[in-house]
Amino acid sequence: MSNYKLGLEYAKQQDQNDTLASYRNLFHIPKDKHGNDWLYFTGNSLGLQPKSTQKYIQQELDDWANLGVEGHFEAKNPWMRYHEFLTVSMAKLVGAKPIEVVITNTLTTNLHLLMVSFYQPTKTKYKIVIESDAFPSDRYAVQTQLEFHGFDANEGLIEWKPRQGEELLRIEDLESILKEQGDEIALLLIGGVNYYTGQYLDLKHIAELGHSKSCMVGIDLAHGAGNIQPELHDSGVDFAAWCTYKYLNSGPGSLAGLFVHEKHAHNRDLKRFAGWWSHNKSTRFNMRQPLDVIPGAEGWQLSNPPILSMAAIKASLDMFNDVGMDSLRAKSKKLTGYFEFLINELKNDKIKIITPSNPDERGCQLSIQVKDADKSLHQKLTEAHIITDWREPDVIRCAPVPLYNSFEDVYRMVEKLKEILDET
Ligand SMILES: *Cc1c(COP(=O)(O)O)cnc(C)c1O
Repeated sequence: MSNYKLGLEYAKQQDQNDTLASYRNLFHIPKDKHGNDWLYFTGNSLGLQPKSTQKYIQQELDDWANLGVEGHFEAKNPWMRYHEFLTVSMAKLVGAKPIEVVITNTLTTNLHLLMVSFYQPTKTKYKIVIESDAFPSDRYAVQTQLEFHGFDANEGLIEWKPRQGEELLRIEDLESILKEQGDEIALLLIGGVNYYTGQYLDLKHIAELGHSKSCMVGIDLAHGAGNIQPELHDSGVDFAAWCTYKYLNSGPGSLAGLFVHEKHAHNRDLKRFAGWWSHNKSTRFNMRQPLDVIPGAEGWQLSNPPILSMAAIKASLDMFNDVGMDSLRAKSKKLTGYFEFLINELKNDKIKIITPSNPDERGCQLSIQVKDADKSLHQKLTEAHIITDWREPDVIRCAPVPLYNSFEDVYRMVEKLKEILDET
């Protein structure tokens, strides 16, 4: 059914026809000692550095050097409101309204802060549902929230698991969990795009199922932001959080995004952990005011933020704004489809793609399961400067990122994979 073709010529031609191909030149691509570009497939782990990032950070260093504390108001991009320069672009990327989004804190911190507000268990309705393959940090966050509220973490945690012999989650199984235990469940905290399998779940459906049993619904979008188009507002989920150093290319450990649905924006009864940055901007510096929380997502900020990290996020978001998520996603589907086609053409039973084959149920990542958990395959790829990521127990994750990976990258990667598989 696919229109893809084999051979290097085809790959080169696709790159020539690709209207987004020039964006690759806007990134630093790591090189081997002969000066050849690495084949970098781990933008799902740490995105590459835009060449413009340095300029954005330098601006803030210069303003700090020249203005000191006056930079809060006098900098070219005044630090007092720096996060506001990011909000509209960030909201657009995840399909949210500006009042629903802020860049603040880091991902796991945001999950905790959001659970302080949206995980309000009672003696009988207190359980939390996560995916069985949830990212460890999310699992630890949820376990410790349960314990913080005096519950047994094992007893309070419900795992939504793939069926025996399967790798992917089925929405009907979440439905069954809610049907059977919904009255005891307070919160669903689900990875919108699973970090391990690359499965992109139907957020709207999850929200509807959760809400039908009066559960709060939170989404971790670490693998979604800048990758898929989650349409957070329309999905109806209550809250979400994501980091910006994966597909959003803002640098190691950079700040995170936070989404709170508009329906909660003006609810002053929500419990929260607050700081001075949660407080009304117009009276923030009248140091003796009672707390007056900002409506919407900004009310979950705590501290004045690290501007250098914000500057790197601005560099990235300006680029995403320029490209537009629609055209990026269109290229992504084509590029990952091509990757899948080439792997399937290898017809090698030592490897198997576990990511959904439906492009609407995945982002750009393909997770390749390796028979007998043979790690040497990943090792040999790395030695050839093909950067992928090994995840226990038996998966190589590869993300052709549409902003900077080319069809030729994908072609060369699969050629090497074939060579290695043939050797072993
Ligand atoms: C990358 C990732 C994290 C990392 O959390 P930090 O707080 O940024 O260190 C957490 N959860 C998921 C699902 C991730 O993919």
